[in-house]
Amino acid sequence: MLKKILVANRGEIACRVIRACRELGIPAAAVYSEADRAALHVALADEAYFIGPPAPLESYLSIEKIIAAAKQAGADAIHPGYGFLSENAAFAEACLDAGFVFVGPTPQTLRLAGDKLGARRTMAAAGIPIIPGMSAGAAEARDVLAEADRLGYPVIVKAAGGGGGKGMRVVAAPRELEESLAAARREARGAFGDDTVYLEKYLARPRHVEFQIMADGHGQTVHLFERECSVQRRHQKIVEESPSPALDADLRARMGAAACAVARACSYTNAGTVEFLLDEEGRFYFLEVNARVQVEHPVTELVTGVDIVKTQIVIAAGGRLPFRQEDLSQRGHAIECRIYAEDPATGFLPSAGRILYLKEPRGPGVRLDGGIYSGWEVPVHYDPILAKLITWGATREEAGRRMEEALREYVILGIRTVIPFLREVIRHPAFASGDTNTGFVGDHFASWRGEVPEAVMEKALAAAAVDEVLGGGRAAVSASGEGAPAPSPWRTIGPWETGRTG
Ligand code: ADP
Repeated sequence: MLKKILVANRGEIACRVIRACRELGIPAAAVYSEADRAALHVALADEAYFIGPPAPLESYLSIEKIIAAAKQAGADAIHPGYGFLSENAAFAEACLDAGFVFVGPTPQTLRLAGDKLGARRTMAAAGIPIIPGMSAGAAEARDVLAEADRLGYPVIVKAAGGGGGKGMRVVAAPRELEESLAAARREARGAFGDDTVYLEKYLARPRHVEFQIMADGHGQTVHLFERECSVQRRHQKIVEESPSPALDADLRARMGAAACAVARACSYTNAGTVEFLLDEEGRFYFLEVNARVQVEHPVTELVTGVDIVKTQIVIAAGGRLPFRQEDLSQRGHAIECRIYAEDPATGFLPSAGRILYLKEPRGPGVRLDGGIYSGWEVPVHYDPILAKLITWGATREEAGRRMEEALREYVILGIRTVIPFLREVIRHPAFASGDTNTGFVGDHFASWRGEVPEAVMEKALAAAAVDEVLGGGRAAVSASGEGAPAPSPWRTIGPWETGRTG
């Protein structure tokens, strides 16, 4: 087994990976930037290494600094989490060259999965259905116009090196095409250093259904069934669940087989996700491979009983998958809500600041993967995900009710979060009946402004006051018990404004 793992990430996923390491009895080393000196992942880890200024390029995205920290820590493996360097082939290569085990696929697989156009070509050759569109980068505007005409509007412009919705533009009519191409190119160049863009047909209200895959280095590849991730804002997921209400046993088996075929086509090892779009006629199309642990992996963990992060580590250490396809099944239903520090009333703009009060939900079937505590200053420099709330139930209805209750109990004061919005999503009749597609938020919440009734705020303030009297609202204490509790905001902070988070 591995001797020490450096966790090259921050926030909730760093905490998640550190917990997996502790369970396996492997010491975990954290890294942190200037903005994260007091972060929860630093307190949770066995040791922590400073890697520079808050700007990601100078810390969490610096291959050199991460490798130096791993050497200093005497680690023998590096877990990249998601985001940052997790899908960077050059990073995986640098880890291997420096003698570290990289907890993820090979650099070759990362290179293939990271090139959306290359992946489209590989999957088409392997007989996997792909979304109609181009198989090479767009060149002359004239050719792109002709291709868009052939596909029929609307079309979507995508960056070949894309991710996180960047460099993506939906184009409804020919007159918008040239401008959208230029804008997508600019954005792609800024974000990925590569302005190659291409066109796909923009499918009408598809569902986003993805399959978790796992493969070891001994030739075994399995899928851990699907996750439905159709509730999205700005083409990015916010609520996920498993199983998908849209799949029957036959479609699930066909999509699962396709996901494993995708994994084999790119010689996949470790954990990954094969994303598909599913149209209203039940046809599915390959979207992309996410070659890392996925934000929404907990819903799969809750329905299959497999610990994906621990299994990633076992595979990276050269072990075999501890299960076969026929050992896996889905039990019950799980739903995840991503808790972002964003203000839904302003089109989901990030909201940084100090968390003045935090009360996390508990109860049967409730799991919370968090990276925050009361008194913590949420930095402006990173992805605004604070935590993930996941509920499990014997049925979808039970998981949904547990989620509704858990969101009602969840209080974060001081910054704006998406919690009030999520409460409405979960309660919405279309969600309750499983009638979701990627147009869900636009269709049902386009004009949602989220005025929270006074009563909710009063309840939150009362809860905060009671908690303070009872001695709560303290910072997390480090694993070794040495972390100093943060001063209570109720005593030390002057006038402040509450977030409208209820
Ligand atoms: P990124 O990697 O930037 O997140 P993806 O290619 O994974 O981008 O797509 C993200 C989301 O955008 C999908 O889940 C879906 O909602 C939407 N989308 C992408 N491509 C299409 C398409 N061809 N038709 C309809 N929706 C699409």
